[in-house]
Amino acid sequence: MMDRNRYARVVVGIPVDNIFDYLIPEPLLERLKVGMRVLVPFGKRRLLGYVIGIADKAEVTDIKEVREVLDDEPILPENLLKLTRWMANYYFYSWGMAIKTSLPSRLNSPVHKARKRKVSETDKYERLHLPERSDIALNKFQFDALKRIKEGLKNGGFNTFLLHGIAGSGKTEVYMQAIANLGEKGAIVLVPEISLTSRFVMRFRKRFGRRVAVFHSGLSEKERFDEWRRIHKGESEIVIGVRSAVFAPFRKVSLIIIDEEQDPSYKQEEGLRFNARDVAIMRGKIEGANVILGSSTPSVESFYNARKGRYHYLSLPERIDRRPFPAISLIDISKEKKKIISDRLREGISDRLERGEKVLLLINRRGYSPFILCRECGYSPGCPDCSITLTYHKVTNKESVNPVLKCHYCNYKTAPPTICPDCGGINIGYIGVGTERAEEEITKSYPEASILRIDRDTTRRKTTFYRVSRETFQEEGITNQDTDIILGTQIIAKGNDFPSVTLAGAVWADGGLHIPDFRSGERTFQLMTQLAEKVGTGEIPGELIIQTHNPDHYSLRYIKANDYYGFYKEEIRLRKELRYPPFYRIIRIIIKCDNEEGLVKKIPELKGIIKASDTKDIEILGPAPAHIYKLKGMYRWHLILKGKSHVSLHNYASRLNETIKERKFPGIRIDIDVDPIRMV
Ligand code: ADP
Ligand code: ZN
Repeated sequence: MMDRNRYARVVVGIPVDNIFDYLIPEPLLERLKVGMRVLVPFGKRRLLGYVIGIADKAEVTDIKEVREVLDDEPILPENLLKLTRWMANYYFYSWGMAIKTSLPSRLNSPVHKARKRKVSETDKYERLHLPERSDIALNKFQFDALKRIKEGLKNGGFNTFLLHGIAGSGKTEVYMQAIANLGEKGAIVLVPEISLTSRFVMRFRKRFGRRVAVFHSGLSEKERFDEWRRIHKGESEIVIGVRSAVFAPFRKVSLIIIDEEQDPSYKQEEGLRFNARDVAIMRGKIEGANVILGSSTPSVESFYNARKGRYHYLSLPERIDRRPFPAISLIDISKEKKKIISDRLREGISDRLERGEKVLLLINRRGYSPFILCRECGYSPGCPDCSITLTYHKVTNKESVNPVLKCHYCNYKTAPPTICPDCGGINIGYIGVGTERAEEEITKSYPEASILRIDRDTTRRKTTFYRVSRETFQEEGITNQDTDIILGTQIIAKGNDFPSVTLAGAVWADGGLHIPDFRSGERTFQLMTQLAEKVGTGEIPGELIIQTHNPDHYSLRYIKANDYYGFYKEEIRLRKELRYPPFYRIIRIIIKCDNEEGLVKKIPELKGIIKASDTKDIEILGPAPAHIYKLKGMYRWHLILKGKSHVSLHNYASRLNETIKERKFPGIRIDIDVDPIRMV
């Protein structure tokens, strides 16, 4: 007799790579479909699983039954099953975990059922529901760019475009007109941080009304789920969001836009360490969609791909209003005898204040000073759980008036000593400059000026961030003309525009250059460009003053010359010489343990495994202690694997990972970071 049974092939949201087969009981046969969630027995437990296939035969004999089906219709379209499977393989994660990462958290809880319910109509943008038609006539660069994108859309199939143009060159207008061209087909727009790009969202809402769904970290679980469901039900064909929007449950996507594609926020740094830009490109490939990477300073990798013809290069070389890029000067701060603000910058500020213009100051560290130091014995308090000095915060926030020492990695807090705990000395020095100290200094120098500090301490919670950039900037007067000086961390360079800023200052541009990371030059170039883009957007030409100890650094020299291509050429030469991306792919393996001795004892064995392995075509750096040796209580060693071919690199990392797992290093955890963007 034929076996009429059907089996569900299920993956579960835990770190096991297997696919498990379960018998589908008769009453569920009709209902259960690929892409649904089920409850299945798993050892002694019951787990939530995702059905990735249905088969006639089971691969094992001891078969258990599916207990319950949680959905009325599949929540995972086929394209997302493919995408998550690719991610699992590429990033060394289990498929079930990849699916779990892709879903709003409500759908990963077994008690929550995605049954049909009335969608709540609480929408913050209700008043903007009437879409406006655009009557903007594109300039010739925009026109050419859009024409080529339209060709790509018409011909169908996968294409990647790199749209290169500084802020104000009209990229967003091109995005919107490309989307308007799609009709009812799905579009995903990724932005690095929604809170900083609220103006962007408002513009899309204005043009496309209710069709726009928004995904960002400030949403509650319920709001996020509601947005997800609107897309799933086909009520919304456009989604704007951060990383997670790349998983928007469209059955078919036609266009994916990644704004500021170079931004490191696209990389998730814990759990599944994926880069949403790269996942987006893969989604485009899987679905035959067009992908637009937009940027004012494209990542070296993307620009290289464009030069090689892998991406179509589209350029918007000037601002819409034709305003010039600001004049940029470099000030050698080492000649300024310990001054936080050089004479030159000081004069610049005074001039602007006299004329009633605004100033933007970038201080890329929060707190008062990055560390404190006993001037008698050199003792400097560090975090007990991380190899990081504690940052001194003079005023933490409105609720607490006492100074505090804080770890910026794990949030450990302690009261600052007034007497050195090591030698009893009383001469404590506050070393380096954070935003609080800069604010104090500026307030002293310009007592008449109204000053606004913007950093993570003044905005406190993530959700407040959103409000800050949408409403408070207005409330607190940036557009109302009554703030004279805005100072803050890189948030101010990334975020919304501040009209009538005519001078920007980078108080110390070198912070990023000291990080042991092959991208530090690129990051500095990008950050300084973003800062430059924020000035002189009004009638009066802008100026950027960069204070540095390294005025000869190539990144800064090319910034001064406003020469992206010159910078690229220098950088790509270095990348080739030092065998870094895009010429070599990198996989970083972090080995960590809360027991230092146990970890160190295992290193020779690890070295032995590597020595015995076939390392043809692979270059290995380490194992060596990571730059941040201890983090959140874990001691860390790392290995950097480099290879010309991703396939052989991936295979090698996979074999190494298996061997380490087989040897069962007790208490040791392994993190695999594919295409890492942080090497510390
Ligand atoms: P980007 O995204 O590159 O920063 P935007 O698309 O936001 O540039 O354009 C900058 C400003 O110019 C916006 O206010 C936008 O509405 C306006 N703009 C864009 N394209 C045109 C155009 N062709 N004609 C007139 N104004 C335009
Ligand atoms: Zn810490």
